[in-house]
Amino acid sequence: MTGERWPALLVRDPSGDVESTRAALEGLGARVLIAASVTEALQLQVDTPCEVAVVDLALARESGRAVLEALREDGGRTPVVLVASADGQQRAQLFDAGADEVLAPVTPPVELVARLRRLLDHARHRKFLEAEAQRLHELSVTDGLTQLANHRHFQERLREEFRRAQRYDDPLALILLDVDHFKQLNDAHGHQFGDAVLRAFADSLRRAVRETDFVARYGGEEFAVLLPKTHLAGALTVAERIAADLHGLRLGPEQRIAVTASFGLSSYPGRTVTAPDQLIRTADEALYRAKGEGRNKISLHQPTLAVVAAGATRV
Ligand code: GH3
Ligand code: MG
Ligand code: MG
Repeated sequence: MTGERWPALLVRDPSGDVESTRAALEGLGARVLIAASVTEALQLQVDTPCEVAVVDLALARESGRAVLEALREDGGRTPVVLVASADGQQRAQLFDAGADEVLAPVTPPVELVARLRRLLDHARHRKFLEAEAQRLHELSVTDGLTQLANHRHFQERLREEFRRAQRYDDPLALILLDVDHFKQLNDAHGHQFGDAVLRAFADSLRRAVRETDFVARYGGEEFAVLLPKTHLAGALTVAERIAADLHGLRLGPEQRIAVTASFGLSSYPGRTVTAPDQLIRTADEALYRAKGEGRNKISLHQPTLAVVAAGATRV
């Protein structure tokens, strides 16, 4: 039972009445950590973040209010109950300072329990809603099959990175890649195999990029890799690394099916790339060219840099 108890912080002058508040908290399932000073309270809260803090403002020599302020630093949301003999004006100030509840020192135990229970219910419900909002947000920006960012997330990030690149005069590169003859693979080996190919591509892309790069599933069997602070030449290196990784990939029941992709690369700044949509359009044009040249190729938007290479050939 003790293992399931949740931690509560009680900051009180030890000579005062600690027992009634402790009993109230324990009655609600808490494991009560008692601090006799502000310093001790802050140390306890650092070691064991508590679900609720009950703070006696009449702490000897120190201001109990400092505990409230410390718990509210950096957006801290631990529910704080202040125990204080305060008039209306003072209570208002305490609420403004972030108190969730202000109780008179003589609050009857039943009322104390009822108020603490309501406070905990609200705090837990808020936590649940925040976690749920976060979960739904993740779902809305993630592709369910590959767990990569989805198209919408990519569009948002592209615009963000483009603005950043313009502001700081940084380069920004984009790789679009499309699985070659994917329809045939689906038709010959089934959609589940097709799905496995897409997941394998996603893994390969994750392996090939840096943490600051951004990989997304752009569409059905198309992927996008956004490379901040990267010129076209750097993007080419990354595309070649991806192509090499894909080159070694063997899939299917006997691990014998090889799969290739075609790549289109573009970058900002460029003569025809002054907006996010142009970065996509030019990378897409390059990709189209790679397909036209026979697939399993890397094609660059700026033809001056185009060189023939081994593996997936540059065009
Ligand atoms: P190309 O080399 O020109 O790119 O040929 P392709 O067959 O890859 O291109 P096409 O656009 O003709 O076909 C894409 C196929 O991708 C058609 C569609 O059924 C399949 N596809 C799209 N999304 C998924 C998916 O989530 N799972 C599976 N298994 N297949 C998908
Ligand atoms: Mg394709
Ligand atoms: Mg396609």
